[in-house]
Amino acid sequence: MKKGKKKLLFTRQEMFDLNKKILLKRGVTLEAIAEISYEQQSKYSNGVTRELCLESVEKILSFRDVFHNVQLACEIDRLAEEGLFEGPIQDIIYEDLGLFGVDETLGLDVSSLYGTIGQTNFGDIDVNKRGIVKRLNDAGKEDGICHTFLDDIVGAIAAAASTRVAQVLNEDLAHDEIESRRLTLFDL
Ligand code: MG
Repeated sequence: MKKGKKKLLFTRQEMFDLNKKILLKRGVTLEAIAEISYEQQSKYSNGVTRELCLESVEKILSFRDVFHNVQLACEIDRLAEEGLFEGPIQDIIYEDLGLFGVDETLGLDVSSLYGTIGQTNFGDIDVNKRGIVKRLNDAGKEDGICHTFLDDIVGAIAAAASTRVAQVLNEDLAHDEIESRRLTLFDL
């Protein structure tokens, strides 16, 4: 294939649209990802809404690093389903070998956008497999379906979104504290 003159750079809106499209093609809606964030974060914070979770998922899906990870993860699974890799890696990915960890590496990279808490939230989703992550994991055991990379990338987006929700809510709390401090005796 000839190099050059190809579109390599995409706007954040284009990256979001392409991510949404490829995830849908692989059977994943943004609402299903947001639902995991909602379930995870509503245990720790008051005021978590599905709207805030969905907004966070959408924002994360517009980042360039996430775009590259999501597109690559979805394509690796598709190629493995079609048997297009050569050598032992085809079977290792297609059969989702437990000791294969490159899928988790991509997931950790995405969840690291939101620091250590993002990573621990990803670990929680990876182990406890809620909602769409569980459905992907189960479906991936069927003939002809490979979700080796998809379940991790979806879990990681949910973990990052869940962590962003905590950040947004805590920013609001910090603002509330400033407001109430203005109303103390000393300020009046
Ligand atoms: Mg996996």
